[in-house]
Amino acid sequence: MTTLGEAAAAAGMPFDHVDYECPPGYHDNEEYGGHCMFCDGGLFACTVCSSFEGATTTQCPGRKLTAQERDDVYAGRLDYRNGHCTAQPSWYCPGDYYERAWDYEEAGKS
Ligand SMILES: [Zn+2]
Ligand SMILES: [Zn+2]
Repeated sequence: MTTLGEAAAAAGMPFDHVDYECPPGYHDNEEYGGHCMFCDGGLFACTVCSSFEGATTTQCPGRKLTAQERDDVYAGRLDYRNGHCTAQPSWYCPGDYYERAWDYEEAGKS
């Protein structure tokens, strides 16, 4: 299974967001129980641009996205790649996710 990140990297758009991780010891003083959405839930969030999950641009713009921009990314109206914003759906936009991964797999076979 090729991940979408690998597919994007192969297309010249390596994933360069900075994945949020809880600091060491972050959960020591609370009732943790293994339910942190970042550590255990696999939730992705970028500490630089605040992209997260379906509202993740293909590449990191290096600054915080506005709430409006995040909405547009999620809706497939905005992306950031190759150093500029573009009015295209992100590779990680939820609508196209599986379709794109599937297309890539099929292309790899032929
Ligand atoms: Zn955590
Ligand atoms: Zn980012």
